[in-house]
Amino acid sequence: MNEYDSAKMLSVLSEAGAIAVTSAQEADLIIFNTCSVREKAQEKVFHELGRVRELKTHNPDLLIGVGGCVASQEGEAIVRRAPFVDLVFGPQTLHRLPALLAARRGSGRPQIDVSFPEIEKFDRLAQVSTPLTAQDSPRGTAFVSIMEGCSKFCSYCIVPYTRGDEISRPWPEILDEVRRLLAQGVKEIHLLGQNVNAWRGAIDDTDEDQTADLAFLVSQLAGLPGVERIRLTTSHPCEMSPRLIAMFAQIPQLVSHLHLPLQSGSDRILAAMKRGYTVLEYQSVVRKLRQARPDISISSDFIVGFPGESEEDFERTLRAIETIGFDASFSFIFSPRPGTPAADLPDTTPAGVKSQRLQRLQRLIETQSHAISQAMVDTVVPVLVEGHAQKNPQELAGRSANNRIVNFAGHPRLIGHVVDVRITDARPHSLRGQLAQTL
Ligand code: SAM
Ligand code: SF4
Repeated sequence: MNEYDSAKMLSVLSEAGAIAVTSAQEADLIIFNTCSVREKAQEKVFHELGRVRELKTHNPDLLIGVGGCVASQEGEAIVRRAPFVDLVFGPQTLHRLPALLAARRGSGRPQIDVSFPEIEKFDRLAQVSTPLTAQDSPRGTAFVSIMEGCSKFCSYCIVPYTRGDEISRPWPEILDEVRRLLAQGVKEIHLLGQNVNAWRGAIDDTDEDQTADLAFLVSQLAGLPGVERIRLTTSHPCEMSPRLIAMFAQIPQLVSHLHLPLQSGSDRILAAMKRGYTVLEYQSVVRKLRQARPDISISSDFIVGFPGESEEDFERTLRAIETIGFDASFSFIFSPRPGTPAADLPDTTPAGVKSQRLQRLQRLIETQSHAISQAMVDTVVPVLVEGHAQKNPQELAGRSANNRIVNFAGHPRLIGHVVDVRITDARPHSLRGQLAQTL
């Protein structure tokens, strides 16, 4: 999501005449796109701001901006704490950057806009000329944001407060953006949203009562010539409708990977988190998904050390990880976010215990994820070639459907294409392979 927003900021500013430079010393404008999901990320912003402050003494024209969720949450407080900051804008006002810059230059005063102007952001961004994304290098894949915000209000999470309520991007705009990307040679459409499966839209202008869902959207996109892969990030377990699950049986372009955060394997903790499902209900969704697509890989986010999490609750999470067979996943220690209900819950688990739990959980996930990689050895998998390999630029690197980096020898003309690769070795963070066909 943040990567996507950064790319949009770049597009909006490029259109207004800005040119990207490679070092902070050369810049006349430095923008921090921030995340406030956990406290550590938030504190880092102020640390980084302190580092660029002195650049203003060498370059009096330098403007400094803070965007994203820390900006949304802190608003004016950022300028109070760091008075050298010139712009503060939220995730929903990033499209107003050129206007904010002009107002700052005209008035000489810091500009703060952390409002939620709802659909305006999508309207404005739809007009931004291509290239639309930071990944316009011929990686073959592009993010398309289809909804913004979140109305779920999990008890620990700041997102509904910083990004506002769920709003869906209208279907015609999504279609326009996807068509533009396909014309640029994009093969994989990565649909983005905090809860991408909460997307709803009118099927056509004449019948506003007819509401389409993500299953409709996916089936329509899959019908466009050139769409070879569709990815979804992030899905909420409560919104895995039978129609959407059926898409995994019907739409081959939908990749065999779903990020479906469970968060905890204890029903008691899930209830305190206000996630809206039990472990059994989650397992039932996964069982149906596997009926529809037997080789689907499921990843998750986990929060460790939620207030009141006992050793038994944590053991339940480990058991759920084994039973469900999660692939590589993200895990975090609970971070109290001011203003969220969970921040006021009594939390007696010592920090050391939480760290140990996190390490145990991550070791288990790594073992499982490596076993999945190992099982891919000697099989042939389709790989979308994204560019040159990081360690050896003579080689190519791409992604398998289940999101693994695959390095292999091949001609650079394959970049941006889906090719069949035989997996020869499973490394801890990547796979090695050989082209399975002569191209
Ligand atoms: N909407 C997605 C969902 O429901 O799973 C997740 C979006 S959230 C920005 C990404 C992840 O950050 C969450 O899944 C959760 O694991 C983690 N997270 C959110 N708030 C947190 C907190 N206060 N402390 C630790 N982790 C948190
Ligand atoms: Fe946060 Fe829950 Fe919304 Fe995900 S669903 S963004 S965790 S409030």
